[in-house]
Amino acid sequence: MRDHISVSQINLYLLCPLKYRFNYIDKLPKPFKAAELAFGSAIHSAIEWWHKERQAERNREWQDIASVFEADLNAQAVDEIRFKNGDDLSSLIDKGKELLAVYVKEYKGTTPKAVEQGFRVPLVDLETGERIDLPLDGYFDLLEEGDTVVELKTAAKVYDLTTITQHLQLTAYAYAFSWLRKREPNLRLDILTKTKKPQLHSFEVFRDQNDKVRFFHLAKRVIEGIHSGHFYPSAGWLCPSCEYFDVCQKWRG
Ligand code: SF4
Repeated sequence: MRDHISVSQINLYLLCPLKYRFNYIDKLPKPFKAAELAFGSAIHSAIEWWHKERQAERNREWQDIASVFEADLNAQAVDEIRFKNGDDLSSLIDKGKELLAVYVKEYKGTTPKAVEQGFRVPLVDLETGERIDLPLDGYFDLLEEGDTVVELKTAAKVYDLTTITQHLQLTAYAYAFSWLRKREPNLRLDILTKTKKPQLHSFEVFRDQNDKVRFFHLAKRVIEGIHSGHFYPSAGWLCPSCEYFDVCQKWRG
């Protein structure tokens, strides 16, 4: 039994309940790491470091951020990284530096108030008061002045409107922030695209009571599915880079 639920857990269960089980319950070792995950994680770490430096009023050059990124990716490469599309470690490092240069140049946000700030809030239906006996845990990527909560993503292309309006992490941010601070946040989604010419896209995002109540019911159903042992393979776009592909093929229920 887990002691909390997170948006990452909910998203993984919705994408593939069997992968959720392999990862969070069986805790199977991963024979490799998908390059896109390693890349996204290293970009995220470098940007987090930069914002912490900004918060401490230390001016850093792009080269410093690029070094943090390179060191992170090299450290991850101690374990096997599985590349695709002709990429290798060196081309990924070049791509990441290019993205970070764009991020630093294009970034328009204000001075950070907090970076990677953790939260734990109860899961409550805001319409009926029904409560789930499992808290929601997470991290606000970035909090800026004016109650602005920022979610940063690296993506192959910019998200469409439906993806943005359905983005669960932002709904969870809205829910957790308003629960903790008793006021609504300003939500912003920053997407750094890994396109030929990388770009930083920023979107103002809105969530209302209906979105938060819907999120509660989604979390509730996922938790019920987990507690009932409903774990089955859901083949889809995750499979080609799934670390558990081989063990999944031997699954017999
Ligand atoms: S290979 Fe596909 S179906 Fe199997 S666990 Fe991984 S994501 Fe799920």
